[in-house]
Amino acid sequence: MTVLRSGFATDVGKIRRANEDQYLVNDSLFAVADGMGGAAGGEEASHTAVAALQEAFDQDPTADGLAEGLRAANRAVWEKASERPDLRGMGTTMTAVALVPCADDDQDDDVLAIANVGDSRVYLLRDGALERITEDHSVPEELVRAGQLRPEEAATHPQRNMLTRVLGNESDVEVDCFEIIPFSGDRLILASDGLFNEVDHDDIASVGRRLRDPQEAATELVRMARDEGDGRDNITVVVVDVVDDGNRSARASAAVVATPPPPRPEPATPRQEPERADASVSRRTSTAPREKRFTVRVAAFLTALIVIAVGTLAAISFFGRGGYFVGLDHDEVVVFKGRPGGLLWLNPTIARRTGTAASDIRPSHIQDLQAGKAEGSLAAALRYAAAIKNEATTTTTTTLPPIGGTASSPASTPPSPSSTIAR
Ligand code: MG
Repeated sequence: MTVLRSGFATDVGKIRRANEDQYLVNDSLFAVADGMGGAAGGEEASHTAVAALQEAFDQDPTADGLAEGLRAANRAVWEKASERPDLRGMGTTMTAVALVPCADDDQDDDVLAIANVGDSRVYLLRDGALERITEDHSVPEELVRAGQLRPEEAATHPQRNMLTRVLGNESDVEVDCFEIIPFSGDRLILASDGLFNEVDHDDIASVGRRLRDPQEAATELVRMARDEGDGRDNITVVVVDVVDDGNRSARASAAVVATPPPPRPEPATPRQEPERADASVSRRTSTAPREKRFTVRVAAFLTALIVIAVGTLAAISFFGRGGYFVGLDHDEVVVFKGRPGGLLWLNPTIARRTGTAASDIRPSHIQDLQAGKAEGSLAAALRYAAAIKNEATTTTTTTLPPIGGTASSPASTPPSPSSTIAR
């Protein structure tokens, strides 16, 4: 059984007059919401969303229930904004974490489900390294993902406060979902943009590593954003620690020992356990996976494609080069290897010359030769060539010259065939 411990802090900051952020800290459900739409609207939106999330999650405390909780929160804010003109245009971000049963696990195990809309964030501090889990739905971050902006330019982009997805803006919303297999020592940090717009990534990581108590860490992060940063926005931080993972770490280590590790490009330091981190953070539903992996299934599919392509080429080549036909090369009867007229890129080639001139062949055969007289083998083609030559010779020797005329070969003026034979 996984045991969590949490801390939280929020502050209005040095400039704003109202705190439009909301947080939710429960036994197994945690959230941060950053409202917008004027002071009244922003507070109402984040408050409404958090209440709707809690109510929906109580009905279905699962990973799917968490995602549905954000959709329920969206509907609640949307409907309230539609009903009250003074709240029109309000909206809120929401990022939420819940400890839920593992959906596809026979064991009595659990996972940390994460759901996000907007630009509040969830970070994971594991083995001393801080990783952002969620993606911001903001104009500069969308530009970064589209490859049109460098990551370092996003933090200072003039439209960094313009969001592309929030709760309450439309009747339905797409929710990003992630899952983390929790291990003892993991720390999740949920934060509104008032934190990370004022405190940089390395300083958040440093505080997270230094202060063991989650309440102290949350309080210190909010203090830094207000006092050491400019405190331009409301600041909210929730810190969730995994203090017991129900012996999952030991089971994972046993599994790693039992399974020979794959070859590694460089040795890992003893404290790092990258296999565990890679395998235990996943994105459940997404429109754009963070990275495309070259899997065994993809390799098998590509191999099958190559085999099919090579087989098809071999079949075409075998068919296109497999037969023989008798035809004309300029004025000579020849045997070609290939198909009359050729096949795709396979042109026929001369297999055997006969030395027989077209003028020595009866005119009735010339048309066949121009089209190409196909035969099953070289021997059959040669037999045909010999036969039509003999036929013409026999005909010539048994035909009497016409009375009053001059004897002449019936094939003395064949049409020039050269242009009709593909070479
Ligand atoms: Mg904010």
